[in-house]
Amino acid sequence: MSTTVTAQEFLAKSIELATANVLNSGGPFGAVIVTADGQAFDGVNRVTATNDPTAHAEVTAIRRACSELGTFDLTGATLYTSCEPCPMCLASALWARVERVVFAADRHDAASVGFDDAVFYEYFENDQRDALMPVAKLELEDPQSPPVLQPFNTWNTLDSRIDY
Ligand SMILES: [Zn+2]
Repeated sequence: MSTTVTAQEFLAKSIELATANVLNSGGPFGAVIVTADGQAFDGVNRVTATNDPTAHAEVTAIRRACSELGTFDLTGATLYTSCEPCPMCLASALWARVERVVFAADRHDAASVGFDDAVFYEYFENDQRDALMPVAKLELEDPQSPPVLQPFNTWNTLDSRIDY
């Protein structure tokens, strides 16, 4: 991509990708991730096409960028997306160390055509969240069970670990 490509153009591209994806067995979502040095990587929603509920456009773009660049760290990148990222995509962008996220349509636009984004946002803000999906710590009772901190202790003492 030329350095003259603007934020407006990347965002417009994400919308074009989203529309084209609908006609290619995908959901109506597209994304472009642009690295600190200006390299652009596309992603589109492939949830139903690949039976992968995590294959949102933003995640797909992050995976492609990281795979092609050989890194798990996209520090300084900007994520352009045709629709406000869901909580999973926001968390994925945080893990990828994306610097900034820019979106076109919002969560309410997505909800208006049946996508659950708004409900999932509410999950994190709602005291009644267990009704949607309980998340609970379980104490292991069998004394033969591995200690719950065993993975962390192993990690902590491994000299060859790659911190992230
Ligand atoms: Zn998402």
